[in-house]
Amino acid sequence: MSKNEFNNAIAALLKIKFGDVRKMKPNKRFLVAIDDGHGMDTAGKRTPKFKDGRFMYENEFNRAVAELLKIKLEEYGVETIMAALGDEDISLKQRTVTANEAKADLFVSIHANAYKGVWGNHGGIETFHYYGSVKGKKAAQIIHKHLIQGTQLRDRGIKEAGFYVLKYTRMPAILVECGFMDSVTDAKLLLTGAYREECASEICSGISEYFDIENQVDWKEKYSALMKRLKELVK
Ligand SMILES: [Zn+2]
Repeated sequence: MSKNEFNNAIAALLKIKFGDVRKMKPNKRFLVAIDDGHGMDTAGKRTPKFKDGRFMYENEFNRAVAELLKIKLEEYGVETIMAALGDEDISLKQRTVTANEAKADLFVSIHANAYKGVWGNHGGIETFHYYGSVKGKKAAQIIHKHLIQGTQLRDRGIKEAGFYVLKYTRMPAILVECGFMDSVTDAKLLLTGAYREECASEICSGISEYFDIENQVDWKEKYSALMKRLKELVK
């Protein structure tokens, strides 16, 4: 190896070291409490009847998104705890106690909205955080931004509210309303696997931006590519 080649190799190594490697550290461990909103049979939490006489429970949507979100967060090395597993209508208090006892870093409550329970042309997504919560607001802003960009649904904005799960959780907490069950257009989406997947994916992207972490699957690929380059350089 000539002196020039040696210097080039060192320069390349330094560039890698201070550029790529810094960003490639494994993620710090985070725990997210996922709340699927209601029990399957919570009164009133369903779409109006479709033309064929069928309807969708809100929890069918919420739970599907919650379960997809859990899987997607695993790719980021983020641990999850389900605040309300099962079909029963777990009390709001129990949901917050579960998240508080687990010392979750973030609480995410997933819902589908309703206006008057009769079909209408309203629609869109809104995201809530507790009154005056700085961290809750930050999480809400980031996750809402991803949801709006990804779904292209009407942006109803970020709102403050005193909902029980936002008030009594000790970590930053947000509640997403991913479309209206009584909206002619939104309800069709809420029924589809593709839209549920999209919501979970956007919420996951928002959470990763909020925590400032990278996808660990991508990271492993980048890491092995980097190691290959390093081996070539020191040959
Ligand atoms: Zn709900």
